[in-house]
Amino acid sequence: MKIVVLIKEVPDTWGDRKLSLETGLTERDASDRVLDEICERALEVGLSYADAHEGTDVVVLSMASEASTATVRKGLAMGAASAVQVVDGDLLGADMGLTAEVLAATLQRIGFDLVIAGNLSTDGSGGMIPAMVAEILDVPSATNLTSVEISDGAVEGVRLSDAGSMRVRAELPAVVSITEALPDARFPNFKGIMAAKKKPFETLGLADLGLDAADPEASRSIVISLAERPPREAGVKIVDEGDAGQKLADFLAENRLV
Ligand SMILES: Cc1cc2nc3c(=O)[nH]c(=O)nc-3n(C[C@H](O)[C@H](O)[C@H](O)COP(=O)(O)OP(=O)(O)OC[C@H]3O[C@@H](n4cnc5c(N)ncnc54)[C@H](O)[C@@H]3O)c2cc1C
Repeated sequence: MKIVVLIKEVPDTWGDRKLSLETGLTERDASDRVLDEICERALEVGLSYADAHEGTDVVVLSMASEASTATVRKGLAMGAASAVQVVDGDLLGADMGLTAEVLAATLQRIGFDLVIAGNLSTDGSGGMIPAMVAEILDVPSATNLTSVEISDGAVEGVRLSDAGSMRVRAELPAVVSITEALPDARFPNFKGIMAAKKKPFETLGLADLGLDAADPEASRSIVISLAERPPREAGVKIVDEGDAGQKLADFLAENRLV
């Protein structure tokens, strides 16, 4: 069984996150660069299966700039057997369509039985990459899973909705995305960090994948304007003069919070 986990480097959610108002790009150096936590959980799903099933090959795949190599390597330190990183200057500012095309072309090249991704990144927050990749590859996708059970020929899981929960199943090969309901990931230990240095790490460019970011036939979307989120307004302070309960209830009703 070959499991490929899609991993993405993001600006640390605990630090400042900024968009450049000039280029429209994320300012990646405004805070620490980290592996998105949801991708760590996705990797944990693959590694847990591999721990219990000998012969499972877990590969991490990322489309990211050269500066993200250390983050991709963290996937190896956690336990993945190999890594593939797609790096190409023409991918700067790639929209979701191009991102999905690149990931799908790489998956076709390296082969897979199961692809595991996060359901939503903490920077782009598009939430569509896993389904788009599955569509291009023409394989089933089971998205937003809160539990995952992998067997030889299929993957099953539960997806929650406001109305209830549903159990979904897809025959392999397939793409799944997982939510934060899945367990926390393991930390890389010293042995893992040392071993990561010797594990296979393949770097590919657009030409290796037969893709052209500027293909005039492809439909691409571009950011045409952006604005900074307005600063948070000061909260309302209710001083208790014997009527705080009423004031609180009025505030909640006015703001349609009850
Ligand atoms: C119209 C539009 C225009 C955009 N233009 C720009 C732009 O000009 N500049 C810019 O910087 N960004 C731009 N973006 C954002 C950029 O396209 C996304 O950040 C990127 O394509 C991935 O989407 P996401 O992070 O929203 O994915 P999501 O669908 O939220 O991610 C879900 C999961 O997919 C996997 N995944 C996502 N991306 C990758 C990746 N690169 N490698 C490996 N796995 C991955 C991960 O497992 C992740 O957890 C644009 C987005 C849109 C919608």
